[in-house]
Amino acid sequence: MTVVGIDDTDSRERGMCTTYAAATIAEQLRRDAGASIDRILLVRLNPAVEFKTRGNAALAIHTDCDPARAFELARAELESLAETQDERTNPGLVVADVRPDADDLPAELGRFAMRAIREHLSIEEAGAVIDGYGYRSWHAGNGRGRIGALAAIGAWRALSAWTYEFISYRERERWGTTRTVDPESVFAAAERGYPAVWDTVDRGENETVCVPHTPGPILHGIRGDDPDRVCRVADRIESEPVRTSQLFVTNQGTDVHLRDLTGDEAGGRAQEPESKASHTPVELQDGRSYQLDVRVAEPPETRRGGHVFVDVATDSDGTRATAGDGDTVPAPRSRPTLTCAAFEPTKRFRDRVRNLRPGDDLTVCGELAGGTLKLEKFAVRDLVTTELVTPTCPVCERTMESAGRNQGYRCRDCKTSAAGKERVPIERSLERGWYEVPPCARRHIAKPLVRGGFDGPVHPER
Ligand code: ATP
Repeated sequence: MTVVGIDDTDSRERGMCTTYAAATIAEQLRRDAGASIDRILLVRLNPAVEFKTRGNAALAIHTDCDPARAFELARAELESLAETQDERTNPGLVVADVRPDADDLPAELGRFAMRAIREHLSIEEAGAVIDGYGYRSWHAGNGRGRIGALAAIGAWRALSAWTYEFISYRERERWGTTRTVDPESVFAAAERGYPAVWDTVDRGENETVCVPHTPGPILHGIRGDDPDRVCRVADRIESEPVRTSQLFVTNQGTDVHLRDLTGDEAGGRAQEPESKASHTPVELQDGRSYQLDVRVAEPPETRRGGHVFVDVATDSDGTRATAGDGDTVPAPRSRPTLTCAAFEPTKRFRDRVRNLRPGDDLTVCGELAGGTLKLEKFAVRDLVTTELVTPTCPVCERTMESAGRNQGYRCRDCKTSAAGKERVPIERSLERGWYEVPPCARRHIAKPLVRGGFDGPVHPER
């Protein structure tokens, strides 16, 4: 098997997109080289990478084409694209000659791919690996695109969870113009495809999420768990003519970017002494995404712009503080605190965050940026259901007053008294289980709750 990895062919202004470049190269391999294409991988890499144009996508074409021929064809295509792209575009091409089984791809490539999804890699490292295996490669600009191109090749070895996206492309003369897509047909098709096909629309925002707004060649992209179902949903959409379409095998909707610091995987974190507690737990690094257990430390706060912030306490060993007993027990101050954010574009998800109370136990998922965890989803593990309040007088029903330090409460008028505060139930609008941002705010790589496999009840957005 020959694997053709490509990345960084797109530009914000001209609106090219790497999926289209891959589909075009695959078409040429079929037409000009008589090759067959097994699949095209659309691999989403670390969403926190600053160099990305949009969704940090890299592509890998699996073909039976002779590697030298595949390299020449792909290079010619990327060279002609590169001439018209802006200087921030740094296309990269890597062609690997490997056996068809995922296990025959070198384990080092798998590790490289996984790190490209979860960390930040250097151009030099990519170059060294490419040279080490003697793969054919080409690049323009600073060569950054070779990081993604190599990672896209290694992804087949690294990953086991795959989903599908069926992308329909526009006729070239229409690129940059308003897309003609009948929204009603999109909503109807989405309804028929759900839940195997997800994130096609956002019903809450009345938005056709599958239709991009950027100037590129994509008309719509339909995502889901099943290759036939995504194609069928695309077929039902009424729109301007589709020039060509392509099915991609992808790691979208898998949460593979998250480092799980809950449970057993948190092991190594126990080494951090409590005295190192600081505003941001020292173990967490900006530009990476995490899943971790926390306890809400302060009431959520809505700030300018409609962004919602909530401070949470993380436990020094990576697990949340000892499970709550339903009381209002803010985590001890000595635990490292972390600010979590639900920004304005996450829309109705912000209400979920606003409904949190100090003492709630959660698992939170998101990217750490500037010391703040940008929430993608969270699970309610334990909710505070009662609170202590100043008692009311059983006779006049007015709030009692303090009778003095450690002397309980009393009602002056009725002469009634109470030994201490009273525990009363609180109405909670949240339930146990997972909550997520709506489809309109979903990151490509984030797993929609409707896909299942979560360790608790789910409250999917659609
Ligand atoms: P689009 O979504 O329109 O396809 P994009 O968001 O995929 O665009 P690119 O133009 O591909 O953005 O730019 C991302 C760049 O970052 C590529 O050059 C890629 O090789 C590089 N890159 C990807 N992942 C990493 C990483 N983990 N570390 C360092 N560089 C990376």
